[in-house]
Amino acid sequence: MPDSIADTYQYIRQRLGTAELVAVSKRQPLEKMQALYALGQRVFAENYVQEGVDKINALSWPDVQWHFIGQIQSNKTKLIATQFDWVQSLDRLKIAERLNEHCQQLTKTLQVCVAVNIDDEPQKGGVLPDAVYEFVKQLRRFGHLQLRGIMVLPKARHDYESQKQVFDKTKQLFDELNQQGCDLDTLSMGMSGDFEAAVAAGSTMVRIGTLLFGSRE
Ligand SMILES: *Cc1c(COP(=O)(O)O)cnc(C)c1O
Repeated sequence: MPDSIADTYQYIRQRLGTAELVAVSKRQPLEKMQALYALGQRVFAENYVQEGVDKINALSWPDVQWHFIGQIQSNKTKLIATQFDWVQSLDRLKIAERLNEHCQQLTKTLQVCVAVNIDDEPQKGGVLPDAVYEFVKQLRRFGHLQLRGIMVLPKARHDYESQKQVFDKTKQLFDELNQQGCDLDTLSMGMSGDFEAAVAAGSTMVRIGTLLFGSRE
């Protein structure tokens, strides 16, 4: 494995094909984020609202796209709508409605992905695969949310074949939604431990934290 952040960055990018790299900077120091920025990275993602907002303000990069990928509490929707460009973890209509209202006031459009609970895990958030189409249809009434795609966070699998299997299943769902007229361009799947299988299955966006930055604080 490469050891400097520059080498790691190159290593990952070479393995992504056309998929976009989202740098997951939760619980990572500003210095490492700045190093990645200097290398050309312009898309970062955060899981915790306050931490994300603090970093967005501290770095105040004019040309960076910030993605929110964590669970969304309704009392945080205004901050999220104000500070972030993308929300990948949308799984409740109530939250969509609130984000949309804030965006309307801000006269901005938020790019959104629906979080799909692809492994049907009861303790996890996300819309169940069977319910995604109905959910997506409901989102059409929110004029300030632009639906871009789906995001999955499958349970950890340690061999390539089973990783590939769940990503193939997700790609199939994505294709079906598009055949039903959903017009999605973003399939957000793949993290540090499984991004190569995700890319092989057709991921358009990978979210990588620890492999890029090292372990979290
Ligand atoms: C933390 C996180 C990641 C990145 O995980 P790594 O294993 O550190 O690459 C990606 N997506 C979501 C939703 C996360 O919470």
